Amino acid sequence: MIELRDIKKSYGAGEEAVQALNGVTLSFGDSGLVSIVGPSGCGKTTLLNVIGGLDRYDSGDILVDGQSTKEYKDADWDSYRNHRIGFVFQSYSLIQHLNVLDNVIMSLALSGVPAKARKEKALEMLEKVGLKEKANKRPNQLSGGQMQRVAIARALINDPDILLCDEPTGALDSKTSTQIMDLLAQIAKTRLVVMVTHNLDIARDYSSRVVEMLDGVIQKDSAPAEAKQGALEGTKKKGTSMSFLQALKSSGKNLLTKKGRTIATSIAGSIGIIGIGLVLSLSSGINGQVAEMERDSLAGFPISMSSTTTTQFFGTQNQGKEFPSEDEYYAYDPSAGRVIHTNDFSKEFVDYLGGLDKKHYNSMTFSYGVGVNFAFKGSSYGVVKAAGADTLSTLGLGLSSALFEVPDSKDFILTQYDILAGEYPSKKEDLAFVVDSRNRLAEDVLTSLGIPVMEKYRSSDLLGRRFRVLSNDDYYVEDGGVYRPNANAESLYESSSEKSPFAEVKCILRVKESATSSFLSTGLGYPAALTRFLLDEGKTSAVSLAQQANKDVDVLTGEAFTKFTSYDKNMALFGADDTPKSISIYPKSFDDKAKVKTYLDAYNAGKAYKDQIVYSDLAETITATLSQVVNIIAVVLSSIAAISLIVSSVMIAIIIYVSVIERTQEIGIMRALGARKKDITRIFASEAITIGFVAGVLGVGVTYLLDIPVGMLVSSLTSGSFNAFLPPQFALLLLLISVLLTFVAGIFPSLGAAKKDPVTALRER
Ligand code: ADP
Ligand code: MG
Repeated sequence: MIELRDIKKSYGAGEEAVQALNGVTLSFGDSGLVSIVGPSGCGKTTLLNVIGGLDRYDSGDILVDGQSTKEYKDADWDSYRNHRIGFVFQSYSLIQHLNVLDNVIMSLALSGVPAKARKEKALEMLEKVGLKEKANKRPNQLSGGQMQRVAIARALINDPDILLCDEPTGALDSKTSTQIMDLLAQIAKTRLVVMVTHNLDIARDYSSRVVEMLDGVIQKDSAPAEAKQGALEGTKKKGTSMSFLQALKSSGKNLLTKKGRTIATSIAGSIGIIGIGLVLSLSSGINGQVAEMERDSLAGFPISMSSTTTTQFFGTQNQGKEFPSEDEYYAYDPSAGRVIHTNDFSKEFVDYLGGLDKKHYNSMTFSYGVGVNFAFKGSSYGVVKAAGADTLSTLGLGLSSALFEVPDSKDFILTQYDILAGEYPSKKEDLAFVVDSRNRLAEDVLTSLGIPVMEKYRSSDLLGRRFRVLSNDDYYVEDGGVYRPNANAESLYESSSEKSPFAEVKCILRVKESATSSFLSTGLGYPAALTRFLLDEGKTSAVSLAQQANKDVDVLTGEAFTKFTSYDKNMALFGADDTPKSISIYPKSFDDKAKVKTYLDAYNAGKAYKDQIVYSDLAETITATLSQVVNIIAVVLSSIAAISLIVSSVMIAIIIYVSVIERTQEIGIMRALGARKKDITRIFASEAITIGFVAGVLGVGVTYLLDIPVGMLVSSLTSGSFNAFLPPQFALLLLLISVLLTFVAGIFPSLGAAKKDPVTALRER
């Protein structure tokens, strides 16, 4: 039971205001076919829209079952439309991309009926209007009469109390009109049908009541119904609802029915993603390349410190000026101002180095003066000595050395060296042969290790060779207060001693082809762990104790120290002095190198020059240029990525906006069927998310495919192999960005679409 009381409604403002309804008072019963007739523009459609809750009245009141609608909120109107009203429009207003069945189902989806029941009910309804066999047809495959019947089926599916029809036969021929009117008359037996028409004949033939309108007021009413007072029954108020999942499903279905458009949209959206993806792939490739380049050059040029360094000071001499133009020439004393600086590798400094963050360097090596002596059995017995501190001078120069220390950092070494045979040393007694890039070992090195010089060797000739590590107590024999190296190599090698374990060659290493510098000598390398073992053992050995007891006499000769010998040198040789002789730090990258230098400078800060640690940075010259190039590349790539991102999001926003414009009428229909603003937002938002997801997957997939030719292209342009690869975490991020961007880009047009006045939306055909 609907009752209108003095309803007024105007459009526009001021001079141009149109009073579409000017005080309409009408009441309707529960059934019957009521026709509203009148000339075009008299306010019929407006009246119908106001009754249907599609449009709001300005003043007056509409009573639904005796209850005022003055306080109705949007949600109440939505529910009212969805549950109590069915709309039939002159132009059918079917959604073209849905088939007949889905068009009918749509308003059921809005009222939250389960999917299976929805389909059954829709088919039942189609049968009633005689169109069951057309269920899978598209609206454009039907005739006008058939389309209007689909619209009627759709309007009836929610079992509304009132069916509102706006010129239902307006676009139909007289024969079809009759069929439709018969159907409506049938329907009017059980519920109220309010029909607008300008065809007075049709109105008279079929209606139980005819209301004539002119200029927004009722002219004549053939059978006014008695307005009943008071509430008869409680308004059935059931909220319309559509879950997000339903919205996602229905938008997915919409996207599926428009495959071509969806694919095109997704491709458009994915272009930006592909752009960013490629930029990220390239930059990860370049980063990899640069990191490798940096590591390689830093492997050759560590930050190094020696116990003594020579520094030239020019400050005291008159330097004149650079590039003088005068015809004058000068003499200078090159030795003036030369200072020998002693780096004090005190425990304090070594501890300080221990505090340097490990993420900044690949390796930090300490070299000690400890004498490493091996006894061997080759063609004959013999002893080979590491030259102690002297080996340091060969470090980084790739020179041969019979024995040298291999630093602890296995991972770092394996970035620069290949294992040609055997396994990488794992214990302190594991040795490694390091051959040069032509697989060669120097003859003098081989000879000094007791290996006969031959034209060719197999790895089996080199691996497994054993050397006895000689500790001081086994090596030095006391003879009247003087300690002399044991000359009997055979007894040294053969006599087993706990302090002097056997060491064995475990592998053959060769510098990698890609390495820029070989930082290990070639020859036989022993692990740093062995040095530490000898340092421990050296402190308590008889020879070092004897030297400590008499600091003036060289225990190795029994005579005073000479120009070339000293107490300190001896103690270092015996391993009794664990002050490093030199320290090398291999930073991970140029940035890290700067951090390491800052760290070292912090140690020196505030100290007198003589107490400072002087270091040399051989990689300095390459640093400046390379890191500049790297920075330029980084800036260029990230700006390209940023531009792609903006282009991509603008593109997506435009696509969604166009899609909203394109479907304005559909939005109106959905609103007329009782969809809430929220539902409209949801449908478009979920459509945007779906497109974003598809675009993201497409973009990431295409990026991975394009990475292959791009990698090959860059590789062919540059020397070496370039690996353009999108890191998986970035791929995931791009997918998220794509979904997020389409969501953000889509949410505003969606909100706009939801805000659209259903009446205006419907008018936009
Ligand atoms: P009918 O359906 O009887 O032809 P309408 O109800 O569509 O008439 O229109 C009544 C009057 O209100 C007309 O003058 C029409 O131009 C005007 N009108 C209807 N809707 C709007 C609107 N959205 N904006 C401005 N004027 C409108
Ligand atoms: Mg009209």
